[in-house]
Amino acid sequence: MNIRRMQTDILIIGGGSAGCMAAIRAKEIAPEINICIWEKADFKYSGSIARGMDALNIVCIPNLSDPDLYLEAIQSGCKGVVDSDPSYVMAQRSYDLLKKLEKWGVRFIVDKKGNYRTLQYHVKGRFQTAMDEPDLKLILAQKVLEKNVTILNRIMGISLLKDGDQISGAVGMNTRTGELIVSQAKTVILCAGGQARFNLPNSGYLYGTFDYPGNSGDGFIMGLDAGAKLTGMEYCSSVNLIKDASMPLLAITVTRGGRVMDCFENVIMEGAVNRIDEMNKAVDEGRGPLRISLKHLPEETISEIEHILFTCERPVQERFFRNRHIDFRTHDIELWPTEVQLCGGHGMSGIRVDENAWTGIYGLYAAGDVACVPKQHLTGAFVFGEIAAENAVKVTKNINDVCVDEKKILSILNKKESRENNLDKNIDIKEFEYKVRRIIGDYIPSPKNEYKLHRWLEWSKVFKNDLEMKVKIEDGHDLARLYEIEHIIRCADCSAVAAITRKESRWGDAHFRSDYPETDNQNWQKHVLVLQGDKYENLDTTTAPVSGLNQKEIFHEN
Ligand SMILES: Cc1cc2nc3c(=O)[nH]c(=O)nc-3n(C[C@H](O)[C@H](O)[C@H](O)COP(=O)(O)OP(=O)(O)OC[C@H]3O[C@@H](n4cnc5c(N)ncnc54)[C@H](O)[C@@H]3O)c2cc1C
Repeated sequence: MNIRRMQTDILIIGGGSAGCMAAIRAKEIAPEINICIWEKADFKYSGSIARGMDALNIVCIPNLSDPDLYLEAIQSGCKGVVDSDPSYVMAQRSYDLLKKLEKWGVRFIVDKKGNYRTLQYHVKGRFQTAMDEPDLKLILAQKVLEKNVTILNRIMGISLLKDGDQISGAVGMNTRTGELIVSQAKTVILCAGGQARFNLPNSGYLYGTFDYPGNSGDGFIMGLDAGAKLTGMEYCSSVNLIKDASMPLLAITVTRGGRVMDCFENVIMEGAVNRIDEMNKAVDEGRGPLRISLKHLPEETISEIEHILFTCERPVQERFFRNRHIDFRTHDIELWPTEVQLCGGHGMSGIRVDENAWTGIYGLYAAGDVACVPKQHLTGAFVFGEIAAENAVKVTKNINDVCVDEKKILSILNKKESRENNLDKNIDIKEFEYKVRRIIGDYIPSPKNEYKLHRWLEWSKVFKNDLEMKVKIEDGHDLARLYEIEHIIRCADCSAVAAITRKESRWGDAHFRSDYPETDNQNWQKHVLVLQGDKYENLDTTTAPVSGLNQKEIFHEN
């Protein structure tokens, strides 16, 4: 078989925020253990951070806020569908995390008295702590490099391998050559981010998404195929952000006094980012486009906002606004609904994990946006990257050896070779992705109903057949992209079956069913879980109660 082989103790799939932090932590506590990161792009610039960041959205600063208050805030934000332990543990470890980052040279903003600059992002509590760090990803990458971690860039994980009931490694693909790679590993930490490339963004550009476009739900699907359960896949998160750019700015402008206005000059949100549902409602009612107004703010505040927007997260914003002659002192910023995103960072979708970042499968952990610790943001990616590493190290030390499943590897190789064979294939891959995502946009996001969701499932069968039989592959890059599109389609299937199962409306526009318009707390304040059935095409759903603090029942289902 033309396959590259390797062995490691812990394999981390995805070298973004969570993956880098997991590698650093594992080496801190067990320098003798072999760690390898597979990163689809180049780990120095990949992932949601890519460059820098302007805030750690959840920090419980002593004497200002505490984990109990955070739990109240997040329970309210998630309308009761949140397992308490993971969110609580994350909040508990958040301040130590901030201190650790500071020691690494990450700059948080403090006043003359040494108090951190905090802002109100949640319904209650000032957890958002301002950062001014344009080089955050480089700092993380440097730390990883210092720790003697093996990094394989341009390797995309496509399937996990098991030895009986336990994880034993993964199969990946070189995104330039299409060559397969197999790693035997005692434990695996999935850190492959969420699903950014779902429906189309308003610009129509395939990669012009809010979240990092390399995150195509691969981690969700790898976890699902290995037997993990997905939750919250019906939560279709979309926010109103900069028109045609889908770039972040609410947390930066609104928390500093910016006003979100509708077209009738009504102020919808000011001071805290706590009325996203109202913003979506205003657009649905025809009061859009919404815009952010900063004109009333003092020069000092406008300059601060410009500094953050133009240096930290997406510095390209400076050119974007300049070329459109938009000066915040005289012009408002037009907002437009973004594409839908499925993720556990800003949203509530992902692999269900407990407070140990455990997925319920021996040897498999998940951290960051691929895991469902609802709305955990960067804090969750870092904290659960560390927690996953701590637990993976423990388990790794107890395992002598694992075997990889050669039969499965062979079937993956055969499928790849059949996808590479262009005989009688004539659909261009870019056009295929465009059509898949356009149809997802037609049938999956709110307003949802049984008819529309089933229509998607019909289309999905057509697309899966086209993917195997009709889409042309020119090179290794196209091939990797084909696997990404397969994952996009399968994430849409998961979202559809979860939405069909949840016969109520919840979370505003994130899950509005026109055939069940009311929220039904009595029957539906619980998880809808998606599981892979016996056959590739079959998905099963079930429900599970929300787990309360210290109840240790995360993997117990109805
Ligand atoms: C624009 C934007 C602004 C944000 N601002 C803030 C903020 O101010 N404060 C805050 O707290 N949070 C913020 N967040 C959220 C936060 O950045 C994310 O929750 C967090 O970075 C997610 O980390 P992650 O490691 O899960 O994903 P990522 O950092 O996105 O990393 C995922 C990595 O996996 C790789 N990958 C994907 N698939 C595969 C595969 N199959 N094989 C190998 N590698 C793969 C990707 O290339 C990527 O490098 C923001 C997010 C975005 C998108």
